[in-house]
Amino acid sequence: MCGLPALGNTGVMAEDLPLDPFLKVPVKVTFIQPYQAVKSYVCPSCNQTIEAGTGHVVVVPLEAADLRRHWHRACWEHRDRRHRRQR
Ligand SMILES: [Zn+2]
Repeated sequence: MCGLPALGNTGVMAEDLPLDPFLKVPVKVTFIQPYQAVKSYVCPSCNQTIEAGTGHVVVVPLEAADLRRHWHRACWEHRDRRHRRQR
């Protein structure tokens, strides 16, 4: 087996997972490397295009994988900066 780490079946508790700020559900976040980004997507946070070949994150609701979204890495990291300041 190769590929992405399988967070879903390791007994990780939903409370430990980040929440999607739009869907308000626990999500699994996976970093997509530039070479893995073969399509372009629209980031739900800033509504700008994530060009193919750009490293970004994919945010997958645990209970609704069909609703996964692709975010800019920076947009995802700043999604809750109002509550949690990072420097
Ligand atoms: Zn964005």
